[in-house]
Order: sequence, then structure tokens, then C-alpha cells
Amino acid sequence: AEPTTFETIDFSLVSSLYKPRNRFSHKGTFGHALIIGGSFGKIGAVVLAATACARTGCGLTTTYMPSCGYTIMQTALPEAMALVDSEDRLISHIPTIDLSTFSAIGLGPGLGTAPATQHAVAALLQSISKPLVVDADGLNCLSLNKELLNQLPSYSILTPHPKEFDRLFGESPNEVERIQKAVQNAQALQVIIILKGHHTLIALPNGRAYFNMTGNAGMAKGGSGDVLTGIVTSLLAQSYSPETAALLGVHLHGAAGDHNAQNLTQETMIASDLIDSLSFAFRYLQ
Ligand code: AMP
Ligand code: MG
Repeated sequence: AEPTTFETIDFSLVSSLYKPRNRFSHKGTFGHALIIGGSFGKIGAVVLAATACARTGCGLTTTYMPSCGYTIMQTALPEAMALVDSEDRLISHIPTIDLSTFSAIGLGPGLGTAPATQHAVAALLQSISKPLVVDADGLNCLSLNKELLNQLPSYSILTPHPKEFDRLFGESPNEVERIQKAVQNAQALQVIIILKGHHTLIALPNGRAYFNMTGNAGMAKGGSGDVLTGIVTSLLAQSYSPETAALLGVHLHGAAGDHNAQNLTQETMIASDLIDSLSFAFRYLQ
């Protein structure tokens, strides 16, 4: 195999990927995202992902959660529609009939890995053919049943941090080998792997790999990854290609973090602040 050349995501790349909004548009133009996640005590993860999704420009955002999430979501994010499971504290069954009405699906924030939830994830993967974004416990469900990895639609976007990555693909002795494994698996499975870290790696199905240059240690806090899931799902819903959704999304997420580090300090910034600063990240592109 040819040696991988690693590129960096620079400003000229992201500004060429960004598409300004057409003035003759309506909310249907920008797609309808579905965020699936949550379990008792982790509804906040879905709130963060859905809010980031709405703040990244998609036309409509719907969430699917355990029913205990209903009032929380409708209160925290009135812009979103809330669908709920028959179970109160976990997701046991994702209705698959009407999933084609969603232009993109993001799966995993706060999901948990209860057996019923694992079954629901397996059934979801059987019933869809469009690429989806899989994060957090969505990835952990795949780790618990590795055959599901082969059922991911091509060009799906996986967003593991190193521990989630190792659960999926086995331990690596060091970061360099983990990166090589990400590049290999992105090609073998024909998926996009966003291996999160200080310089997040984006490995594409065609073997190309990029390092992101935005972001800082102030983002090493609970909820940061959930925000990224919402951003990438929103871009995918707006019919950015999966590769572009990954590259642009990771860049914007880090740029929002860098704005927060400047204005709030790395210590005091929290994941919700990333969402509040997405405006600045977009402004730099315009
Ligand atoms: P998660 O672990 O799923 O919450 O994701 C954490 C997010 O914050 C990822 O997007 C990481 O790339 C980002 N992040 C965490 N720590 C750092 C760091 N030291 N430098 C830059 N980005 C970071
Ligand atoms: Mg995470």
C-alpha cells in the first residue's frame, strides 16, 4: 500500500468547503436531522448534541430519547421536536418506518449500552442505507457486537475518542499505531473515522488523512464530544458530503473552543459555551 500522506485542515481548505446560505431558501432546504441518544441521568448529552445541531444550520432538528427526556428537551431546546421511546429510562426500540424522512441521523450521545439498547442499535443499522454519525455509546454498542461494524452504511462517520477507538479496533501500544489503524480501518470499512484528541485525525475511505489544527485543552471536559456529534450531523443533514461534514465540523468545533479559551479561559469554558461560540467560528468563514 502507498504510504499515507497526512494533510492539515487549513483555512483555505475550510473556507472552500463552506457553502453560504442561498437567500431563496426555506427550512426544507437545510434538511432535517435526527439525534438519537440519552438514558436516565444522561439526557444532557442529547440536549448538547441537539442544540449544537440546531446552531449549525440545519432546517429542523428532532430528537429520539427515553421518555424521561421529553420535558427536559422541550424546555431546553424549544426549537427541536421530541420523539420518545416506550421505555422511560433507556432506548429499547427505535421505530424504523419513517427514518427516510430524516436527511441525517446522529446516534449515541448519552445512549447507554443496556441489552435492549444494543438490540435497538442493531435493528436501526439493518434498516438504513444512508450514512450516519455514530458517537459515544453508539460506538460502544458496536464494540459489544463487532459484526455491526460491517453493517454501517458506507461513508458513515465514527467519532471515537482513543478509549472508544481501542474498544472498537483493539489496543494500540502508542498514538502513532492508533493513527495508522484508524487510516486502515477507514479504508477497509469505507467509513470516515474522526479520532478525537489534541490534533483530531480525520481518516477518509479513500485513504487520505487530515489533522485538525483548531481546539485546545479547555475542551477536555464532559459534553465536548456531544457538541461535535451535533455539528457534524447538522452539516450532513444540510447535504454537505460526509467528508466535508467531518472536516468542516471538526474545524468549527475547535475554532469555537479557541474562541472560548480566549474569552473565558480554558479552565472555565464548558461544552455549552462551544455551542454559544459557533457563531464566531462561522463568522471567520464568511
Ligand atoms: P469527548 O471525549 O467525546 O467528550 O470529546 C472531546 C472533544 O474535545 C473532542 O472533539 C476532542 O478533540 C476535544 N478535545 C479534548 N481534549 C482536547 C485537547 N487537549 N486539545 C484539543 N481538543 C481536545
Ligand atoms: Mg464522547
